[in-house]
Amino acid sequence: MKNRYKQDKAASAETLRLLLQKMAAHPAAFNPTTYAVWYEFITGINPPLNKSLNTLLAEGKPLDDEAVYALYQSHIADGNLDAEQAFKQNIRKVLDNLSLLTSATGAEAVKFNAGLQKHGEKLEQKMDEEMLKSLVGEIAHETRTMRSSVESLQGKLQESKSEVEQLQQELLNARSEALTDPLTGIFNRRGFETQMKNLFANPEMQGESVSFLMLDIDFFKKINDTHGHLFGDKVIRVIAEVLKSQVKGQDLVVRLGGEEFAVVLPSTLPDGARVVAEHVRQTVEKGRIRRLDKDESIGGISISIGISACIIGTDDWLEAIGHADEALYASKQQGRNRTTLYGAKA
Ligand code: GH3
Ligand code: MG
Ligand code: MG
Repeated sequence: MKNRYKQDKAASAETLRLLLQKMAAHPAAFNPTTYAVWYEFITGINPPLNKSLNTLLAEGKPLDDEAVYALYQSHIADGNLDAEQAFKQNIRKVLDNLSLLTSATGAEAVKFNAGLQKHGEKLEQKMDEEMLKSLVGEIAHETRTMRSSVESLQGKLQESKSEVEQLQQELLNARSEALTDPLTGIFNRRGFETQMKNLFANPEMQGESVSFLMLDIDFFKKINDTHGHLFGDKVIRVIAEVLKSQVKGQDLVVRLGGEEFAVVLPSTLPDGARVVAEHVRQTVEKGRIRRLDKDESIGGISISIGISACIIGTDDWLEAIGHADEALYASKQQGRNRTTLYGAKA
């Protein structure tokens, strides 16, 4: 996420002075959340926040911890606010332009209509050839004006349509970027949470069993120390590829951070999960990864895995993740490069 705050020390000191006055006047505690809310309010960098906070202030509501937290959650916590904000502003611009254009065309159409009526009335009168010629000339001229106005509206409508489509794509990209890990292209922790919420809320999945694998590269610090950080990154990418190649359909592959991964296997019992885990573990164990700087392949890389399972609609997935973590820890304790099933006898 970009740094939202661009003030230098002197400017931010002035903000701080104003902010303290605001904070002191309200009951919310002097904590970073309250600070962030007032800071963004005073600097005006977050217009939707200002709108909501101004409404609260106008209602004479004292800003307590709960109110501050709600403002923070809805206007600051979302890392994608910048993209959403820009998207909304751009859409507004497109809408404003369109509305100007349609009213201009509308005014043209009203004029055109009035002209047609006037000409119609003239036709009732007796007219010589000259008058008729001039009337036809006028009608032709007005029709051309109207046509070009409609054509311009059509052109602009087409342009706006492409603009809106492009904006939509940008928003989609920004959203999916926030949910994926840039190094490997698989889900990041945030993507994982979003997907888990969807999975557990899916009515068709209620009562289904879901298995979790937690995976951690063994002695990764040593790999980095021996072969360099860039090689370490390559190992992470290769393992993400192995994971992707061993799962199917609705399975999820996640980089939880550093050298830790998770795999979610919906509609899979622990025995099936163990088969997947062992395939992954053995593929990594047997594999060799080429160094980037010299023609040399490094082997002996391994991963440890923990497995747990739960029932959608009955169990808490966070608890199940904790169980998989415990099983992973047991794999490490027992010598690494192995798979442990939570709750199974060693
Ligand atoms: P263990 O077998 O117990 O898991 O040992 P370990 O060395 O793998 O575990 P530890 O958690 O101590 O070390 C993880 C290391 O991963 C530390 C950190 O420098 C490295 N690391 C974390 N993120 C990245 C990354 O994105 N790229 C690279 N190259 N290294 C990373
Ligand atoms: Mg680790
Ligand atoms: Mg490790």
